[in-house]
Amino acid sequence: MNPDPDYSAAYVVIRTDAPDGHEGHGFAFTIGRGNEVQKAAIDALRPMLIGLPLAETLDDMGSFWRRLVHDSHLRWLGPEKGVMHMAISAVVNAMWDLKAKRAGKPLWKLLADLTPEQIVDLVDFRYISDVLTPDDALDILRRSDAGKAEREERLRARGYPAYTTTPGWLGYTDEKLVQRCEDAVNQGFSQIKLKVGGDLEQDRRRLELARSTCGPAIRIAVDANQRWDVPTAIRWINALAPYEPWWIEEPTSPDDVLGHAAIAEAIAPIRVATGEHVPNRIVFKQLLQAGAVSFVQIDAARVAGVNENIAILLLAAKFGIPVCPHAGGVGLCELVQHLAMFDYVAVSAELDDRVIEYVDHLHEHFVDPVVVRGGHYLAPTMPGFSAAMKPETITAYTYPDGSAWQDIRHDRV
Ligand SMILES: [Mg+2]
Repeated sequence: MNPDPDYSAAYVVIRTDAPDGHEGHGFAFTIGRGNEVQKAAIDALRPMLIGLPLAETLDDMGSFWRRLVHDSHLRWLGPEKGVMHMAISAVVNAMWDLKAKRAGKPLWKLLADLTPEQIVDLVDFRYISDVLTPDDALDILRRSDAGKAEREERLRARGYPAYTTTPGWLGYTDEKLVQRCEDAVNQGFSQIKLKVGGDLEQDRRRLELARSTCGPAIRIAVDANQRWDVPTAIRWINALAPYEPWWIEEPTSPDDVLGHAAIAEAIAPIRVATGEHVPNRIVFKQLLQAGAVSFVQIDAARVAGVNENIAILLLAAKFGIPVCPHAGGVGLCELVQHLAMFDYVAVSAELDDRVIEYVDHLHEHFVDPVVVRGGHYLAPTMPGFSAAMKPETITAYTYPDGSAWQDIRHDRV
C-alpha cells in the first residue's frame, strides 16, 4: 500500500511576543508528495492565529480548538477530515507544545495534572454525545482520579510498554526477519508486528518463521495497511490463524465501519485494530459502537490534535477498549507517547494489553527523542510535546533549499 514512502512533515513553528521566548512546534506527517498541499492547508490557518492574545488563548484551549475546527469556510473542505483536519492537528499540537513549555512540564504531565472538569472543557462533544456525554466523561475521569500519584510513580519508574515494528517490513530476507525477531525479544519487547497482504504464501512462511523464532509467549500482530476487500480480509486472516496473530491492523478501508465489524465477527478470536487513518472522533465512535475493533490506534497528528485525541481516549475508556497508539512515521513516536501516558495516569488508568508502537528510525532529528529501554518508553521529562526537530535538521531538510536536497539533485545529475 505504501511501497516507497519518503517520510516528510509540514512543520509549524508558532512564535509569540512573550518575553520568555518559547516557541510552539508541531507538524503534520506525510509520506512525500502532497506535503506541499499539507503546507498550504496549514498556511490557510495563519490568519486565525496572528494577533491572538497569548495567555487567554492558552488558558482556553477548548475554545481555540473549536474556533479552528468550526470555521465555516475551511470546514467545507472536510468536514473534520483529511488535509485541513491534519493541518489543524499540527497547529493545535504546536499550541499544546507551547503551553507545556511555558508550564515547564512535559505534555503528558501537564494534561495529567488538569482536573476532570478542565479536561472535559477541552473536548467537543458534538456528534458523540449519543454515547459519551460530558457527565460520562466526568465519571470516567473522577474514577481515575484515585490512584493517579501511584500510577505516575510507576510510569516514571518503569515506563510504558512498547511493541516494535522493526522486524516486520515486507522485502526482508528470511535471515534478516529471523535476526530482527531475535533482536526484538532480546531487547525486551513482548510484542512485534509484521506487515502482511502482499502474497499469502509468503505471509504464511514469514509468520511461521517469526512464530518459531519468538516462541509462543511473544505477541505477533499483523498489519495489512488497508490492502483487502472484506471477503479477502476474512479469507486471508483465517489462513494465518494457525500462527496466532494477536491483531490484524487496517484489514480494509478505514472508512468502512461495518466492513470492520463483519471482519471482526468472522475472524474471532483474532482481534481487529485500526485508527492511524481514522479521520475523527465520530468514526472512532462508530467503530466502537459496532464492536468492530478490539484496539483503538490513535495517531497524534491525524485527527485534530490533543483535544480530539482526548475525546477518543474517553470514548475508548467508556467502551473498555485498549488504546494502542500508531507511531510509524517521523516524530509520531515522540508525540503519541505523551497521550498514552496521560491516558494511563488520568483516563483509562489501565496498562493491560496496551502498547505504543515503536519504530526505531529518525529519532536523531529530534531535540527530545523518545527513549525506549527494555521494551518500554521512558516518560519524557523535558517540558513540551517532544515535537521540536533540531535546528540543523530543519535547515538541512527544508524543501527545496536545504542542503540535503541539493545533494540529491547533484546525485541525480
Ligand atoms: Mg499500520
